[in-house]
Amino acid sequence: MTAEKIDGKAFAEVVRQQVTEHVTKLKADHGLTPGLAVVLVGEDPASEVYVRNKGRQTVEAGMQSFEHKLPADTPQSDLLAVVERLNTDPSVHGILVQLPLPDHIDEALVINAIAPEKDVDGFHISNVGLLGTGQKSMVPCTPLGCLMLLRDRLGSLSGKSAVVVGRSNIVGKPMANLLLRDSATVTIAHSRTKDIEALCRTADILVAAVGRPEMIKGDWVKPGAVVIDVGINRIDAPERGEGKTRLVGDVDYASAAEVAGAITPVPGGVGPMTIACLLANTVTACCRANGLPEPEGLTA
Ligand code: NDP
Repeated sequence: MTAEKIDGKAFAEVVRQQVTEHVTKLKADHGLTPGLAVVLVGEDPASEVYVRNKGRQTVEAGMQSFEHKLPADTPQSDLLAVVERLNTDPSVHGILVQLPLPDHIDEALVINAIAPEKDVDGFHISNVGLLGTGQKSMVPCTPLGCLMLLRDRLGSLSGKSAVVVGRSNIVGKPMANLLLRDSATVTIAHSRTKDIEALCRTADILVAAVGRPEMIKGDWVKPGAVVIDVGINRIDAPERGEGKTRLVGDVDYASAAEVAGAITPVPGGVGPMTIACLLANTVTACCRANGLPEPEGLTA
């Protein structure tokens, strides 16, 4: 079998288009412009690229983008004051504090200082609890993007056997909760899981969120399974020239694609869905804040 490649880039474009249409309607019918504020502390180059991309795509979707760049030595109290100002600013519907934060700042404290209804990353403890108990919440962007790709591919996930490899708070755990909410039968695997290959081979849906380049091989995959590769790993690529690198996922794409029914590539799979879902969450937050119906298909 040769798997169908799931084109996350094209799907993200569709999501962004839906977001843009919804924003146009919010402006025309209600005089509302959704606003997303991104706070960056320090000068981590990867974070700066993410923040720039987020800002550009926010504006392209017709929304307002607010960027707050603070020096690396910003005291925690100053950062909390910025978050508090954004919490009460009516033109801001979504707040994202770019992680990681410098070591002197308590990440959990800052995340939990964001008003839960503006927490478009879905990391606030209230949103974690709401998702875990199957209630309406803000859903973390990467797992939301994976869920959209899975629903698009499979329709109903009910009764499917799903294995999520990785138990982080930002990907693995919320992913498992979303799959459970869609009535999949879910197992979470991690670094202590025994005979992980055999466990993965039971999965109709296999989600890899590990951070280990090409760990999951074709013979770990059940024939016909849908494989979602969240991993983003940069590895040396001497074949491209001295000092060159390339991006790979947590799944060995070549061998897994021989067995799976469908699979996301890296790059071009889950990655582009993450920012698209951030925009979707901002529109959802704006609608909720104003007592308006939520955009269909853009929430979990
Ligand atoms: P974390 O490092 O927080 O978590 C990794 C998880 O993988 C842990 O639960 C760990 O288990 C588990 N793990 C590590 N080694 C093994 C192993 N040998 N066998 C089984 N499980 C193992 O990573 P994240 O969840 O933050 O990210 C995972 C990957 O997804 C990374 O490559 C990251 O870059 C990528 N990512 C991509 C995003 C996107 O937009 N596409 C967004 C966020 C992340 P244990 O808990 O036991 O240590």
